Amino acid sequence: MRATQNSNASKIVALIVQKYGGTSMGSPERIKSVAQRVAKFKAKGHQVVVVVSAMSGETNRLIGLAHEIQKHPDPRELDVVISTGEQVTIGLLSMALIDAGLKAKSYTGAQVKILTNNAFTKARIVSIDEENIRNDLDEGKVVVVAGFQGMDENGNITTLGRGGSDTTGVAIAAALGADECQIYTDVDGVYTTDPRLVPEARRLKSITFEEMLEMASLGSKVLQIRSVEFAGKYKVKLRVLSSFQEEGEGTLITFEENDKMEQAIISGIAFNRDEAKITVLGVPDKPGIAYQVIGPVSDANIDVDMIIQNVGVDGSTDFSFTVHRNEFNKAMDLLKKTVQPHIGARDVVGDNKTAKVSVVGVGMRSHVGIASKMFRTLAEEGINIQMISTSEIKISVVIDEKYLELAVRVLHKAFDLDQESA
Ligand code: ASP
Ligand code: MG
Repeated sequence: MRATQNSNASKIVALIVQKYGGTSMGSPERIKSVAQRVAKFKAKGHQVVVVVSAMSGETNRLIGLAHEIQKHPDPRELDVVISTGEQVTIGLLSMALIDAGLKAKSYTGAQVKILTNNAFTKARIVSIDEENIRNDLDEGKVVVVAGFQGMDENGNITTLGRGGSDTTGVAIAAALGADECQIYTDVDGVYTTDPRLVPEARRLKSITFEEMLEMASLGSKVLQIRSVEFAGKYKVKLRVLSSFQEEGEGTLITFEENDKMEQAIISGIAFNRDEAKITVLGVPDKPGIAYQVIGPVSDANIDVDMIIQNVGVDGSTDFSFTVHRNEFNKAMDLLKKTVQPHIGARDVVGDNKTAKVSVVGVGMRSHVGIASKMFRTLAEEGINIQMISTSEIKISVVIDEKYLELAVRVLHKAFDLDQESA
């Protein structure tokens, strides 16, 4: 909270950026109910900037249209087309706000002047000119900004990648020095794991940025990862909330682990079904081999996640890594046709029916025994661990995909995540 220098100088208000996703913009009724929510914040004396997504399904529809015209749509023109979804919702929401008796004004990304680089369809924000927004806020207006879009230095329309409205919201909050950036979505916060798998999963009151990045990249896709990175970098206070609930604290994403009220050792169990494992068998155990295996994979733009090289026996060793399941065939092909003959490996084998499960928590930094508890829990269920990797705040294992749900459930229980005080 802080005082602002507007006409209400005596009133303590906060500057809040609220971002509403596609489901919240999904129909005229929902847009009107967003306007009602914004009105409540205004009534409390807050200044509000609203960042919106396109109506749900709209961006997909536009991408589909583009592909019906051109097999590989021209990137500049694709951005011209797919940025229109948000231009519709800023206008509609502004109308709903005006109809609710508020002063409101819409801005496209270019009108704000959200300057990006020129990487069409995946542009990065370079700077935001926040002066007009500030003036409007001081005049008591609600400012409604189109998410997902910007403009490059030549005036071309750009977009920020799928889910990019989250990043717009955080970037605007950073530029304005907002007190809080609230992301309204169709879930009421970040959970200890996916509640569809584990009904006992609990909403977390808070989670650190680092944990959130692990949870997001591991499959708990609540926020666009870049928006979380952005918020961490610019110290934006970020909160995930449901747009369908009247009240609710959501989940606060904090900078410091000390900010967390009740420090749990483990915050959540993340998982990813899209993992595929590849093993190059019998590679010579000598310098340069890891490079000769991974180099061509990376040159082919295939993302690699876990990498494990075994201890060499008799001058040869095995080398395993994981890729996204969609890229499994491409990677297998590349390795069999070019890498295997080149380095003289015995064979290349793969398994695209694997999954990754991770326990995540900043608290594990100072605790031994997390790995042993995790491995024991899986062993007791007869689940074979195929690969292991660790970082300061997570331990991940690759297992057969058919044990994924069981593994997530037993780990969630073993780490007491279903208990309120966990
Ligand atoms: N409408 C865009 C998308 O669907 C951006 C967003 O919703 O965040 O990806
Ligand atoms: Mg989204």
